[in-house]
Amino acid sequence: MSSDCLFCKIAAKQIPAKIVHEDADVFAFEDIHPQSPTHVLVCPKKHFASLKHAGTEEEAVLGKVALVAAKIAKERNLGSYRTVINTGSEAGQTVFHLHLHLLGGRAFHWPPG
Ligand code: 5GP
Ligand code: ZN
Repeated sequence: MSSDCLFCKIAAKQIPAKIVHEDADVFAFEDIHPQSPTHVLVCPKKHFASLKHAGTEEEAVLGKVALVAAKIAKERNLGSYRTVINTGSEAGQTVFHLHLHLLGGRAFHWPPG
């Protein structure tokens, strides 16, 4: 837990969010500013700022984050969906607690902007 981190505060229920999944290692909640009909953020409970800050000890939880995203997508019958991890401010990262965006319910373009 990082005391000045928004997503750690959501994990600790100090800031409200619509939680859609929680287990010992991972939590997921609806994005406050959705970019598609499904827009869920999937996070490790352990605080680390980004993929740049992940070490081999994060290997298991990163796999769990991906599989929780796939589980939520399956629950929502998303035939296609996009998963995104923004790393660094120039890539669009604004919250520095690693999170995976699960986006679905509309078509997406490639390459991304
Ligand atoms: P990033 O830009 O770091 O990849 O993604 C951060 C995401 O967090 C954004 O999509 C933004 O809408 C979302 N977000 C920021 N503040 C809050 C909040 O207080 N609650 C929720 N549920 N989502 C938030
Ligand atoms: Zn955090």
